[in-house]
Amino acid sequence: MFICPVCKNILKKEVVSYICEVCETRYPIKGNVPILLKDEIQKALIERDRELLNAFEIYNRPPRLAYLQCNKLISKKNKKILDLGAGYGGLSKLLFEQNKEVYAMDISPNIAIEVSKFAPFPYIVGEAENIPFEDNFFDTVVSIQSFPHFINPERVVKEMRRVLVEKGEVIITIENIIWFYYRILMVLGKWGQIAEKNGRHFISSMYSYSDLLKLFKKQGFEPIADASTVIYINKNKKKIITIPLFKNLLSINYAIKFKLKK
Ligand SMILES: [Zn+2]
Repeated sequence: MFICPVCKNILKKEVVSYICEVCETRYPIKGNVPILLKDEIQKALIERDRELLNAFEIYNRPPRLAYLQCNKLISKKNKKILDLGAGYGGLSKLLFEQNKEVYAMDISPNIAIEVSKFAPFPYIVGEAENIPFEDNFFDTVVSIQSFPHFINPERVVKEMRRVLVEKGEVIITIENIIWFYYRILMVLGKWGQIAEKNGRHFISSMYSYSDLLKLFKKQGFEPIADASTVIYINKNKKKIITIPLFKNLLSINYAIKFKLKK
């Protein structure tokens, strides 16, 4: 199931680690969490590992807008899901409650170890540019508000393609920085408020709706559904109503479902 992020061979499980018998790299299991990172990534991470907040409290918060958008787009029949950039695990929790087989993955060992103390689904530490799962493993990959953090987005999309089954699906949500309210703040010279909200941790790049379409189409994905413009939220019933209009102006979050043509 897991593959070596260095040489892509299947890893063998030992008591407190996974080992690659080809390149002889050993990957530790801390708590219940396999840390499947290349050595240099693990060393670089110390600098950019996120501030660890109260994991239990954040995990149990009501679903965020992006989770509800993702929930609306996810196919009922698709069971095996990778939550790429799972953070504090709120979306994985929501999916797990719907009897999905969900694997949470993020690059931050601290958060993963903390969340895995109470989360009932597996949590894996890995790099999105080097997803440590074998080919054709998932029905769906979801990536919620994570794209701006990826250093090499094209590589991430290629990896999503690799781990997906034939006609597999990807659901992406991403903040719309040209939402009308942000435009007003910009005109009023209050860009700092947006930056403060979005800049708490490492941002690599920002994307427009068409940037995202272009990125995925290039790797053989086609957009098949959209839940970007939300006009009603019922948080208790975990439902939202969306209209497919005025995405650039009215969406707080872009939410797109792609299908793989392979
Ligand atoms: Zn290896």
